[in-house]
Amino acid sequence: MTSPFLQLDSIAVHAGREDLTALGVHALPIDLSSTNPLPDIEAGGMSYESMATGGAPLPEGGSVYQRLWNPTVARLESALARLEHAEEAVAFSSGMAALTATVLALTGGTGKRHVVAVRPMYGGTDHLLASGLLGVETTFCAPDEITASLRPDTALVVLETPANPTLDLVDIRAAVTAAGDVPVLVDNTFATPILQNPVDAGAALVLHSATKYLGGHGDVVAGIVACGTEHAAALRRVRAVTGALLHPLGAYLVHRGLATLPIRVRAQQDGARRIAAWLATHPDVARVHYPGLDDPSGLVGRQMRGPGAMLAIRLRGGYDQALRVTSSVKLFTHAVSLGGVDSLIQHPAALTHRPVAAEARPTADLVRLSIGLEDHEDLIADLDQALGQSGTRIHATTSGIPVAAR
Ligand SMILES: *Cc1c(COP(=O)(O)O)cnc(C)c1O
Repeated sequence: MTSPFLQLDSIAVHAGREDLTALGVHALPIDLSSTNPLPDIEAGGMSYESMATGGAPLPEGGSVYQRLWNPTVARLESALARLEHAEEAVAFSSGMAALTATVLALTGGTGKRHVVAVRPMYGGTDHLLASGLLGVETTFCAPDEITASLRPDTALVVLETPANPTLDLVDIRAAVTAAGDVPVLVDNTFATPILQNPVDAGAALVLHSATKYLGGHGDVVAGIVACGTEHAAALRRVRAVTGALLHPLGAYLVHRGLATLPIRVRAQQDGARRIAAWLATHPDVARVHYPGLDDPSGLVGRQMRGPGAMLAIRLRGGYDQALRVTSSVKLFTHAVSLGGVDSLIQHPAALTHRPVAAEARPTADLVRLSIGLEDHEDLIADLDQALGQSGTRIHATTSGIPVAAR
């Protein structure tokens, strides 16, 4: 067992690897078995029963079938639970599968069919909750309207902070108080457990699109929910029944990503701070959305240990300029998703937030940037030339590299 007193960076490297020495291996083993040999009918059946109702496999009965349990996935879950200060975690095939399972787990058979969702949030989450597809009715509201939006049949409050794509911050403790007895789910994808632990502020469930920072290399789609034992059992039960499980290869990649998560997030954040400061001085940029520049809530330093590496800008040249900038970048990749080692740029209103109701959709002049691990001066030079393509202004520097402080 690793010591319960380790610091965050040590936990990121070692958590979920406690059984490796006894197995005689050093790297995370990938167990691809779709099925497992059964000792005998009785023991196998009892273990099946335990897992199908949300529990762990029984040692004498084995793990039976991959849809019920997989050791490679379980190691990732225990590591993420530790990083998020939660009792347990349950992994899914994507962030959306994780959200779907959470809604089903909290509404199925409870007689509760109502969700309160704080806008803005990721377009896919907004869309799923608004669609009625899961049999729930959703009231969208602002952070200070949570209590007024509650109903006797409210099963869940969903919020995201920092929110996708405008980086709005929500006070989690205040939201939990406003929600009363109703469990609050915080989407912690943007902050990661390195910068924020919603459980410490009273959140019952913490959701990650592990596709983003946790995996961190743009090569895996995964979702995970950190929560208490009771919710975890309900989530495992839904996962076993509906089959939205994470493949062990995906779990391996996300778990491997956790080891470098602290240094990636801090280095990416360092670049984002410098890039945000430069963008704030650019004549074509009407506004920079970045909690490190502008934090009226005062939550950076209190709720968050840093402002993160995501930012959004509003372009004076509007949608036309967004078209030109996104097609002129050379070091940034014009692509959706975020949180990887390489920098991405995208237009939320047209892409990630396309399915959101018109009144809540991001403005057409907004582009979102995910800052990677490249040298920040190279990224600034790329943005400078891409903004220059807009024809409004050409910036020239003698070295060809603009100065960050300009
Ligand atoms: C991408 C994303 C999701 C959805 O996750 P997938 O892994 O793409 O299913 C949910 N929330 C946020 C904040 C995201 O950025």
